[in-house]
Amino acid sequence: MSLWYSEKAPDFETKNSKSVLHPFTVMGYKGHTLNLYQGCHHRCGYCYATYVWSPEFYDKIYAKSNAPEILENQLKAWKSKAIEPVMISSATDAYQPAELKFELTRKCVKVLQRYGIPYYVFTKSTLISRDMELHKQYKDNCFVVWSITTCSESIRRIIEPGTPPAFAMFEVIKKFSDSGIRCAINIDPIIPLVTDSPNDIETILDNGLKAGVQYVFGSTLRLRADIWERMKIIFELLGIEKNNRVKEYIRLYHFIEPLRQSYNLTVDKYYSNTILENLREAATSRGMSFGFPHLIGKSMQLKTKKLHSDAKKSQPTLMDFI
Ligand code: SF4
Repeated sequence: MSLWYSEKAPDFETKNSKSVLHPFTVMGYKGHTLNLYQGCHHRCGYCYATYVWSPEFYDKIYAKSNAPEILENQLKAWKSKAIEPVMISSATDAYQPAELKFELTRKCVKVLQRYGIPYYVFTKSTLISRDMELHKQYKDNCFVVWSITTCSESIRRIIEPGTPPAFAMFEVIKKFSDSGIRCAINIDPIIPLVTDSPNDIETILDNGLKAGVQYVFGSTLRLRADIWERMKIIFELLGIEKNNRVKEYIRLYHFIEPLRQSYNLTVDKYYSNTILENLREAATSRGMSFGFPHLIGKSMQLKTKKLHSDAKKSQPTLMDFI
C-alpha cells in the first residue's frame, strides 16, 4: 500500500503519450477525459486513482510533456462533426504543483479553446487562479468543478494533506464566479463517519453559496482494499476510536475482513440515499441546483441537466471516469 502522507515533495518525470483524449460513456453521458499528469501531489488518502498500476502515485508525478501536440493532432484528425465535452482531469489534478513547472493544462486549454471544444476542469487547487483570464475568455463553454470534501482544517490536513485549505479555495471560487465563470462544487467523496454530518455538508454549501456557486453534486466513498487500509490509518490519526469505526464500515459496506483486492464496494444504499437526499435538499433550499451541470458539445450551448433530480439514484463519481 502506498502511504498518502509524506513531507517529501514528489519527483517529477516527463513521458510521451500516443493519445491523450479518451472517450467515455457513463450513465448515458458521453465525453472525453484528458489527464495531463500521472500521479498527484495532493495526496488524498481516499484517492481512487491510486492502485496497483500506479504504486508511486503520490511520490512520482509524470508529466505527459507532448500532450499539447498530441491533443492538437487528435483534434485535427477528428472524424465526426461534433465532439463531446472534455473533462480535465479525471484521474489526477490539472492544477497540482507540477502545473507550475510544465504548464500542460494551460497549453491544452488553449488548444481546446482554439478548436471550440467545451470543457470542464476538475480541481481542488488554488493554482488555477493563474489561468483565470484564460478560462474567463471562454466562460460560455467551460465549467470549473471544485472538489471539496471538508471545511475542517484538522480533518483536511489528515485526509488530503497536499491540498489547500477550503477557505483558500472559496476565495478563488469567488473570484471565478465574480468574473462570470460558472462554478460547481463536487463533494466527492463524502466519507462515512468522517465528513458526512449535516454540519460538514452544509458548511461547504454555505461557503459555496457565498462564493457564487450555483451547482452542487456529490457522491459517497467507494471502498477498495488499498483505500480501506488507508482509512484505518486515517481513523487513528483523527483520534477516532478505531474498533467501532471499523465495525461501522464493515456494516455499512457489507464485507468481512480482510477486504478482498478485487472488491470495489459502494456503501449501503439506504445510507447513500439518505446522504444524497439530504444534500439535494440542502442545496435546493439554498437556491442551488443539485446535479451535474451539462455542457453540450454539438450546439456549444450550455444546458443544465440534472443527472439525478431523484437523489435516490446513484450519482456518477470521479471514479467512473478513471
Ligand atoms: S486531487 Fe484527486 S487525483 Fe489528486 S490525490 Fe486527490 S483525489 Fe487523487
